[in-house]
Amino acid sequence: MIALRQTSPENLITDLQSFGLRLADPAAGAAGRRGGAGPSDHKAVTFAGRTVMVPIYTGAAAASPFHADAPGSDGTSVLTRDGAEIGRISFPRQPRFYAMQTFDGVPYWKIAVLHGADVLATTVLQTCIRYTDRATACQFCGIGQSLAAGRTIAHKTPEQLAEVARMAVLLDGVKHMVLTTGTPNVIDRGAQVLCDSAFAIKQAVELPIQGQCEPPRDHTWFRRMKASGIDTLGMHLEAVTEEVRARIMPGKATVSLQRYYDAFAAAVPEFGRGQVSTYILAGLGDTPEMILEVCEKLIGLGVYPFVVPFVPISGTPLQNHPAPSPAFMRGVLAPLGRMLKLAELRSRDSKAGCGKCGACSSLASYEE
Ligand code: SF4
Repeated sequence: MIALRQTSPENLITDLQSFGLRLADPAAGAAGRRGGAGPSDHKAVTFAGRTVMVPIYTGAAAASPFHADAPGSDGTSVLTRDGAEIGRISFPRQPRFYAMQTFDGVPYWKIAVLHGADVLATTVLQTCIRYTDRATACQFCGIGQSLAAGRTIAHKTPEQLAEVARMAVLLDGVKHMVLTTGTPNVIDRGAQVLCDSAFAIKQAVELPIQGQCEPPRDHTWFRRMKASGIDTLGMHLEAVTEEVRARIMPGKATVSLQRYYDAFAAAVPEFGRGQVSTYILAGLGDTPEMILEVCEKLIGLGVYPFVVPFVPISGTPLQNHPAPSPAFMRGVLAPLGRMLKLAELRSRDSKAGCGKCGACSSLASYEE
């Protein structure tokens, strides 16, 4: 039995994601995610029927009040807070597909990895025009780290992705897939490589796919992406005010908020209401009021605003930036959950991707 005492699941997820978790056995369950694009330095943890990503490799996690014992013979671990037992948790097991390699000799785990409980995720292009220059790089991003460490390859071909996706479905029952990409140029901004990848994957296996990229210059890409087999689209604001965006992500901030709004308005008719989403990292300087104001506008456009707590990734310029407090996150997620429920724009209605997975935030539990 994976059970919790004394607290509601949404409160515990919020607290765990802000404070992180100390592990008696860091090797328990599936390997944690270090470096890479987007949020990282996490490990998947399951409790009360929900799998969430919890920071474990961050500096803050080393001082967390939460601790998990090594798993017992039943695969569960005792979770304590300040030394007092609060329940039992488990860790998704290492996927079977990690043991295989592609026809051209690349280990599957370098092509795509398991996120949450049942999501196959990959960064198709592990390079980005913005990353190598401090003046343009997003300060939270570690896209070059896993490449430099040899944990992935720079460009996953459509054939490699199709092969891995098929086996991840057959061997591990993955339910949907995330294709993200570094930005290769300022014209299509990665849309072409996402189309090529999705088309090949859909030839190999029926698997709902989310594509994630910056807004392409030409909005006709949205129709091409949908026709290629991309079911949902993520275009990630990351921060919601121009000032914070310019400070934290000086290159990407040249794509203005208005440019994103225009792209959202063009993408929703192609993909459907609730099938276009955006990632918002809370804790980088935007106030709860600013985040909620933008979320209200996004919901009006039919866009799912996936608000997650910022996780400082080791080795990035923001590695010592504090994660937002649980009180800050509750101040955003509780009213946002009510807004989403009222608008009938919930995580569970999304076909694929981060909004559907929801493991990087407690937002979905506030929509119940
Ligand atoms: S929410 Fe997105 S980034 Fe987070 S675990 Fe799920 S698929 Fe991965």
